[in-house]
Amino acid sequence: MTDRVRVAVVGGGIVGCGVLFGLARRGWTETLLLERRELTSGSTWHAAGNTTFFGHHPGLTRLHVDSVRTYLDAEAESGQPVGFHPAGSLRLATRGAELEAYERLAPMYEALDVPYRVVGPGEIEAIHPLLDTKGLPGAAHTPTDGHVDASGAAHALARAARARGARVKRFCPVLSFGRAGGGWRLDTADGAVAADNVVLATSFWAREMAAPLGLDLPLHALEHHEIVTDSVPELQALGFEAPTVRDPWAPSNTRQERDGFLCGVYEARPKFWALDGVPPDFAGELLPPDLARLEPHLTRVIARLPAFGRAGVKTVNNGPICYTPDGCPLLGPVESHPGLWLAAGFAVGIGAGGGSGRFLADWMVDGEPPFDLPIVHPSRFSGAMTREDRLERIAATYAAGYTLPDRPRSGAG
Ligand SMILES: Cc1cc2nc3c(=O)[nH]c(=O)nc-3n(C[C@H](O)[C@H](O)[C@H](O)COP(=O)(O)OP(=O)(O)OC[C@H]3O[C@@H](n4cnc5c(N)ncnc54)[C@H](O)[C@@H]3O)c2cc1C
Repeated sequence: MTDRVRVAVVGGGIVGCGVLFGLARRGWTETLLLERRELTSGSTWHAAGNTTFFGHHPGLTRLHVDSVRTYLDAEAESGQPVGFHPAGSLRLATRGAELEAYERLAPMYEALDVPYRVVGPGEIEAIHPLLDTKGLPGAAHTPTDGHVDASGAAHALARAARARGARVKRFCPVLSFGRAGGGWRLDTADGAVAADNVVLATSFWAREMAAPLGLDLPLHALEHHEIVTDSVPELQALGFEAPTVRDPWAPSNTRQERDGFLCGVYEARPKFWALDGVPPDFAGELLPPDLARLEPHLTRVIARLPAFGRAGVKTVNNGPICYTPDGCPLLGPVESHPGLWLAAGFAVGIGAGGGSGRFLADWMVDGEPPFDLPIVHPSRFSGAMTREDRLERIAATYAAGYTLPDRPRSGAG
């Protein structure tokens, strides 16, 4: 018998779970989330969980701030801990132009009612005593952001949505889908589903899934490394959790993970993964690490954080991360296909997932987005782009890391 729902959400990572929870909060509970394996079995399970509030675009920053709020709401409703650590973050300015750009952002944070300050080298040392501030003109400090347990947050969203009446089916891949009877029909491993609306929240799988509909989604996966160190006595001695440091020079983000460091770097020449399609047997596992590729970046991390250099390496995780040419997600309706919505292409899915789920849910329920945010609309890439252009722009956006954007992008987490 065909299962009938108002919305079928495909993909049970942080984004799909966020959409399901957002819809449930608005009273749309004739919904079904379909996940091919266990929840979070794409990129979400191995993400560092960083939830920065720093950004150059007020709308994107709103999504980030709302994400943490949403995770905490889901935690309160579900009882599932999301592991939020409000240790704050420092976005280093490595030259005067960066510091000036950070100063210009202060009114935006004031309007959003988010604590934000631009600080000089002396204050940086007080906030993060292990940082070498030589040559740094200053930094932007967002004291109330931090990091969550990404998997815990996704499960909290799903659990809270289910408590409100939404349904979740795990180990139920969508095999194909298309228009049928004025709505959509999804063929799954467990039978057919008829839906008024379909939300594709399948990250780098979305490209292949949408191709049979004649859609050429501009997103691909890149390899992305993070390094976890052994215990660091200097961190233990601090007596407080060190904030995350985002350094445009490396470019890298380095935060405290238990008593050690967790460092993610953005390679200058990133390596694409699964360009010709995600292997059908891919179960979300990590990819072989390649520390040699990271060396020039790690040298810079060590120059900034000498204690990082003295620590032993405990684990190196290399996982696929999804990118679009401008680093912003594809979030919204597909105008050419009524009832089809995208929530894919998230490079900073933990930072933005909760707020984006709510944004999309409000758009679906109200028929218009809750606020103007054209830089996430799927239609922004409607002009022709060759595969070479697409790959070149994705690689450049990833490699740019935390440098000042020439146009709004979310880029790096
Ligand atoms: C090493 C590393 C560290 C990271 N650190 C951070 C960080 O600190 N902060 C941050 O914001 N981001 C971080 N990211 C990025 C973050 O992991 C992603 O942006 C985020 O997890 C994307 O979530 P998602 O829900 O879009 O996709 P996913 O988590 O990949 O979920 C997609 C889901 O769709 C399912 N699916 C696919 N096809 C089908 C189908 N046919 N039927 C049903 N289900 C299907 C998959 O099984 C999967 O569970 C990191 C990434 C990496 C690789």
